[in-house]
Amino acid sequence: MKKILLIILDGLGDRPIKAFGDKTPLESANTPNMDKMAASGVCGVMNAMPKDLYPTSEEAHLAILGYDYKKDHPGRGVLEALGIGVKLKPDELAFRVDFGTVDKDLKLIDARAGVIESVKDLCKSIGDVEIDGVKFRIYPSLLYRGVLVLSGNPVKTYLKVSKSAVSDTDPHKAGPHKLGVRVLHPKSFGDSKEGKTVVRALERYQYLTHEILNEQKINKRRVKKGKLPANFILTRGGGHLKSITGFKEKFGKKAACIAGAPLYKGIGAYMGMKIVKVRGATGKLDTNIGAKVKATQKALKRNDFVFLHIKGTDMAGEDFGDAKMKKDFIEKIDKNFGRILALKNVIVAVTGDHATPCELKDHSSDIVPVLISDGKDKDDVDKFGESECKKGGLGHIYGKDFMKILLVENSKYKSQVSKGESKI
Ligand code: ZN
Repeated sequence: MKKILLIILDGLGDRPIKAFGDKTPLESANTPNMDKMAASGVCGVMNAMPKDLYPTSEEAHLAILGYDYKKDHPGRGVLEALGIGVKLKPDELAFRVDFGTVDKDLKLIDARAGVIESVKDLCKSIGDVEIDGVKFRIYPSLLYRGVLVLSGNPVKTYLKVSKSAVSDTDPHKAGPHKLGVRVLHPKSFGDSKEGKTVVRALERYQYLTHEILNEQKINKRRVKKGKLPANFILTRGGGHLKSITGFKEKFGKKAACIAGAPLYKGIGAYMGMKIVKVRGATGKLDTNIGAKVKATQKALKRNDFVFLHIKGTDMAGEDFGDAKMKKDFIEKIDKNFGRILALKNVIVAVTGDHATPCELKDHSSDIVPVLISDGKDKDDVDKFGESECKKGGLGHIYGKDFMKILLVENSKYKSQVSKGESKI
């Protein structure tokens, strides 16, 4: 059996850009290596999720990797926690948090506190807290991001009586990036007493930490310099560990995951993949792609399946809305893909989890291109890009079919694809 390398370039898909002669950033980028891969395989276009749903990265990845993005989704908080190495127990509740800035009426000024460089010291200043039997632990992640874990008896009982978690308090994510709105009250699901205890304690924790954060030297210094203080813990993606079938058990493939950003390491860890540490893999535009590719070569020796994730494509689109930046980053990726092109006996797939059109600075349901290269030219596509891939032999596929297609070697690819719109 050939080994498989799945490369996901986050937010790869885009829309035609006028300044690029109505080509997308990928189409206008010089990508000789990916073009050769497209030429020696089969191409197509994909929506990881049904087109009428907003494609989050985590749900799109679950779908592409062969999992049910609803049933198997433990909540973003859990994936982020696993991604930064937090040992979570199934009876604990984990949230993804952003350190944001609110005014005195708790109205949101900035959900990222002016993209503060680190919240490590701020997390330390808060420490462990207990309110009404609910224990709170906070962990720093990249930049303004963190993970909040709730444990203790009320949490345990609540998770037993309600399979759901707790609603988001971040108004930035609840609406279409809404600022100037008061932070939301957390809500439990169902009528349980414990659920109410948990959300009451969480809200008190948010108020308490708001006061602590406002008093921190780092924040006072930021205010003096005219920067935004990181003075509120915005929670979202609450969830608890679910037991799912591991990747190896599900597909019979020993798998490794190479990623920089915690969410994607968390997705790999959740599926039981080995998480390969790579120095210089930052999950940002400055990531060391060469080091990640070398680690991929190495990981392919010991594993049957390697998932390589690169985040910068999405960041250029979502954080900067900069098509030139996205194009340049794609070219940088391609320059490092010579080693991938040279791999022997490896099926290489390259795609994105969703489109992040620069004009939207957000994810969208536009298609992403897909290539699956196994050395056999199965269609006429010899350039990797959205328009070209539409003409490919795979046609239009959905994320839920992706692993089926990838795992069937030398088969009639199209017969593996379910017809029409996804029903899930
Ligand atoms: Zn994504």
